[in-house]
Order: sequence, then structure tokens, then C-alpha cells
Amino acid sequence: MTKDADVIIAGAGPAGSIAAYQLAKAGVSVQILEKSEFPRYKVCGAGLTHKILSEIPFDISPVIETKIHTFIFSSGFNKVFSRNSEYPLIYCTMRDKFDGYLLEKAVAAGARVQFGEKVTGVELHNSYVNVFTRNRTFTSFLVIGAEGATGAVARSANLWKDIMPGLAWEAEIRVDALSLQKYSDTVFLDWGAFPGGYGWVFPKGDHLSLGVGGPASLSKWMMDYYKKFLIYLENSGIAVIETTSLKSWPIPVRVKRGNFHNGRAIVAGDAAGLTDPLTGEGIYYAIRSGKLAAESCIGFLNCSAPSLLSYSKAVNQDLMTELLEANRIKYLFNTFPLRIHRFVNDSDRAWRAFGKVLRGEKNYADVRNGFGKWKTLWNLVCCIAQVTSYFAEKRFRKTGFH
Ligand SMILES: Cc1cc2nc3c(=O)[nH]c(=O)nc-3n(C[C@H](O)[C@H](O)[C@H](O)COP(=O)(O)OP(=O)(O)OC[C@H]3O[C@@H](n4cnc5c(N)ncnc54)[C@H](O)[C@@H]3O)c2cc1C
Repeated sequence: MTKDADVIIAGAGPAGSIAAYQLAKAGVSVQILEKSEFPRYKVCGAGLTHKILSEIPFDISPVIETKIHTFIFSSGFNKVFSRNSEYPLIYCTMRDKFDGYLLEKAVAAGARVQFGEKVTGVELHNSYVNVFTRNRTFTSFLVIGAEGATGAVARSANLWKDIMPGLAWEAEIRVDALSLQKYSDTVFLDWGAFPGGYGWVFPKGDHLSLGVGGPASLSKWMMDYYKKFLIYLENSGIAVIETTSLKSWPIPVRVKRGNFHNGRAIVAGDAAGLTDPLTGEGIYYAIRSGKLAAESCIGFLNCSAPSLLSYSKAVNQDLMTELLEANRIKYLFNTFPLRIHRFVNDSDRAWRAFGKVLRGEKNYADVRNGFGKWKTLWNLVCCIAQVTSYFAEKRFRKTGFH
């Protein structure tokens, strides 16, 4: 049977393009099927935490618009304080540029891409895979589902499991020149307004990106929250001139370890639910899982591995350990939002730890390990917080914002 490629990748987001780049660099024939035409707008804050830099195997400075040194924290738009870091913590981009750049690198390395091909499902066989699009059927040895939160490959390969749905709204806002300049290295972060909810402003080259997110079960209140955020910005002296691209998009969060491959199919990035439940960050995990996916496919195609099991193992060990820990911290946050808010304000140690997590010098598991012999107590408090968090959300659903 003629194959269209060794590996077919559904989706040219960060997960798909980085996997394609790594595969093509290793001499594997790779075909990306992307439903849109590039460049395309992507609903996303597009804040890249510093730790991503060491994960991307080439320089991304051509698509970085701003560097973040300052955070302005608020809790439900009250108790505002700011914190500065000598080193950049976050880099902001726009997804049309960032994704286009990664795809360009993959194509330069030898990957092929076809736009306007929406993958609708896959059929897994012992020695090959059929990948269906609206227009035709493609055949390959392996398939990587990197199609994001739509999860077409993930669902079809029976890998869309244990996903807790999150949701976020995002808009691009044009503001007065003075504010744009004043906040060009500053993120606004509001948290604690409702259980699991948060809002952010990321400065871009010529505008600000404003977003709010939280559990999909509380989506009904998110537009209210978004409007409150706009008022808060205006009260902070920022004149909003125009709002464009106000849109929502799901944030899938995987809440259990398990399989991330099935036979000859792998899922990566949002299609695998690999997003941080605390912050909604997903690009870093898309990049890391895309690289792991490529590594596992190369091992399988070289006959050095009998299956793609190494991928599920690596994702469970390297990524899920982190993400499950983030989920526990989220429960703590939902239970003690004001205390944590004050802690970040009052304690230099807490602020430094926050910075170290963003810069990749510490991870969430280190936060727990930092409790040393009190680790058991930490685990217990997290369990109690999970229950309290459930009731906090239930209560909020009854009362909404006061
Ligand atoms: C409002 C909002 C704000 C966010 N802000 C941030 C942030 O600031 N920082 C951060 O790190 N993360 C953020 N995220 C999360 C981040 O956007 C995702 O985690 C990230 O895009 C995942 O990358 P991916 O490659 O897995 O999927 P995607 O980026 O979603 O890419 C999937 C690609 O596949 C294509 N596609 C979809 N379906 C099909 C199909 N059936 N066939 C073929 N192609 C298909 C899409 O067109 C797209 O190009 C945010 C998410 C939302 C919703």
C-alpha cells in the first residue's frame, strides 16, 4: 500500500509544528494536515513563560513582541499591588505570527503541509493508519493528533478521556498610546474573583490582549467578569479605544494519568488535555508533548521500540506529574484565595518562588517538596481543599457575583 507519509500530523499549532520539525530533522517523511489557511487568528493570550525558551530548538525572538518584568496583581479587582522581576518572566507574541513561524521552521526542515484539510477521524490498523479528511483519505504508518481542543483524532482514537472542560474568552483591545507604553512590560493578573477563575492582560506590540477564564461549568458568569475587567482597566487610567476579536475557546484539562497513545496514534498538546489547570497555560505543554511525540515515533519507525508506549510513559511521568500538582494547588487557591494573594504581596520568598516556576527554575512538584517533612500535611490540606473547592463552586453557582 502506498503511504502519503511516515507520519501524518493533524493540526499546525505549536504541538503539531514542533513534532513535524523534530521528525523532519530526523529524516522522517511527515505530512501536516491543517484545517485553516495560514496565517490565521487564534484565540489565545499568547503569553509564553520563560521556561519555554529552552524547549524550542531555535531562536523565537523574531516573533516576540514584549517581555514581562512586572505583574500587577488584584483579587476580584481589589487589593491591588505590583511586583517586579529583574529578569523577564513571560514573553508575549501573537499566535498568527508565532504559529506561522514554527510551521515555517518545520517546512524548512522538510515537513509538508496541506491547508484546508480538516481531519474528521482515523482508522487504526495493525500496520498502517487511515486519516480521513472531508476531501480524501490519507495513509501513513503513524498519526499524531495535534488538532487542539476540537479533539477529532483524540476522540476517534478513543483517547479523549478524563478531560475537565475549561473555557476562556479573549479580546484584542486598542488603547491610548500612553497606556500602551506605560504597561509595555506589565501583566495584569486578577484571581480569586470566582472559584477557578482568573483574568489577565498581556501587552502586545500595538495593543493589549485581555482575557478571562475558568471552569466551563461557570461559563455563564465569564462575560460579566470580562466586563468588570474592562471597567477596572478604565479606572486604572487605560482608555480603551476599540475591542476586536472577542471570542471564547475551550481549555481542555486532563485530570488523570492514562494512555496518550493507542496503537499507531498519539495525541499531543490540547488534544491530549495537556494544559495547566491553575493558569490555562498550554503552549509550553504543547511544545513538550510535541517533542516527546516525535521522539517516540522516531524510536518506533527505527524499530528501536516495539510500540508508542514510551510516549504515554513520558507524558505521565514528565508532564502529568506537574499538571496534577498544579491541579492540587488550584484547589488550595480556590479555598484560600485572599490568603494566597496576600502571601504573594507580603512574602519575597513567595514572589521569588512564583518567578522561579515561570522561569522553569522550579516546578510545582518542588513547591510541595519544599514542605520537607510537612509534605504529608500539605497532601492532607490539598485533599481537604479539593472538597472545599467543590462546595465553593457550588455556592458560587447559587449566588454568582455579589
Ligand atoms: C482564551 C485563551 C487564552 C489562552 N492563553 C494562553 C497563554 O497566554 N499562554 C499559553 O501558554 N496558553 C494559552 N492558552 C492555551 C493555548 O492556546 C493552547 O494550550 C495551545 O494553543 C495548544 O496548542 P496545540 O498545538 O495543542 O493546539 P492549537 O494551538 O489549538 O492548534 C491546533 C491546530 O489544529 C488545527 N485543527 C483543529 N481541528 C483540526 C482538524 N480537525 N483537522 C486539522 N486541523 C485542525 C487548528 O486550526 C490549529 O491550527 C489559551 C487558551 C485560550 C482558549
